[in-house]
Amino acid sequence: MGSTERIKNVAKRVAKWHDAGHQMVVVPSAMSGETNRLLGLAKEIMPQPDPRELDMLASTGEQVSVALLAMALQSLGKQAVSYAGWQVPIKTDSAFTKARIQSIDDERVRRDLDAGNVVIITGFQGMDPEGNITTLGRGGSDTSAVAVAAALKAKECLIYTDVDGVYTTDPRVVTDARRLKTVTFEEMLEMASLGSKVLQIRSVEFAGNYRMPTRVLSSLTDPLMPLDEEARSGTLISFEEDTNMEQATITGIAFSRDEAKITVIGVPDRPGIAYQILGPVADANIEVDMIIQNQSTDGKTDFTFTVPRGEYTKAMDVLERSVREHIGAARIVGDTKVSKVSVVGVGMRSHVGIASQMFRTLSEENVNIQMISTSEIKISVLIDEKYMELAVRALHKAFGLESA
Ligand code: ASP
Ligand code: MG
Repeated sequence: MGSTERIKNVAKRVAKWHDAGHQMVVVPSAMSGETNRLLGLAKEIMPQPDPRELDMLASTGEQVSVALLAMALQSLGKQAVSYAGWQVPIKTDSAFTKARIQSIDDERVRRDLDAGNVVIITGFQGMDPEGNITTLGRGGSDTSAVAVAAALKAKECLIYTDVDGVYTTDPRVVTDARRLKTVTFEEMLEMASLGSKVLQIRSVEFAGNYRMPTRVLSSLTDPLMPLDEEARSGTLISFEEDTNMEQATITGIAFSRDEAKITVIGVPDRPGIAYQILGPVADANIEVDMIIQNQSTDGKTDFTFTVPRGEYTKAMDVLERSVREHIGAARIVGDTKVSKVSVVGVGMRSHVGIASQMFRTLSEENVNIQMISTSEIKISVLIDEKYMELAVRALHKAFGLESA
């Protein structure tokens, strides 16, 4: 939605699908740069604006988009009607700037669709129980789209974006990264939470919870490209039991550059310690990721965990206070130059030896592993930031993920 020219292209694309007999609901985001511009205006007024008013402001970007798109469709001879979130309504909780969708009423939309309209609904916004406008967090239009698709039991949710799909890893780091034709929603969730920012994470959760097939595809292709070709393009987020068995063991390498590591040295090894250390950190709304507690010697142990780098200072402040006061631990040390690299794939469930292959690859590159964590479909290591790209490239190659 970069310009009126681009909006006309979106209309052409939508009209093409509609002409092929599909009922269409479109959930546009704001015109590019618009949300940043609006939030910038707020910051010029005051450094910490009231979240309710921020949502009132930020939600207007999408309202511009839906009206312009409706006009663009009408100028192509299509019947189209646009709605703001509260008109549908899309109901959310009251967590301004990061609200969660609670329900979507599909009645009005259905009526319009059945009357032959293309229905256009603002992304990113909804209405709380008191009738206030809320927004869903940056990138929230993805979540709006999947939620609307789920509420309407759509056949597929197509997310047109500035990349042409989900890749085995970031193509800016590995030039021969390959676009995935399909990825399971669980893998996508791991990749998304591991820093591949193609979709807002909540949209992937919605897709999983409501089993909504969701396709990520490029908004930059010719809007009049053949529909069957477009319908097969991009990456389909699907469900494990629907995909064939001949899958590669590993689907992708995800990474998150901006991690920080904190170690509390010499804590007494007794019940409640993990809670006393991490409780105040959680209370400060800081997300803790990897955690290690070492074997104790002399009744003392070291306790290490990671937080997003942007939260490091805040976490250290919280810890200085709580640890010194309540735990009497000897020392807190930190490292803000660490990154996390993960191999992801549902194939891990049925294959052994992935971890050892990962560790061998890293050792051959002389990359020291500082922490390890695993889930059923993922193995993550924390390493020195300096070696992150090297590690990603080596693993991408070792697991044969490059394009043919
Ligand atoms: N316009 C909102 C944002 O920039 C929502 C979105 O684009 O998904 O975050
Ligand atoms: Mg977006």
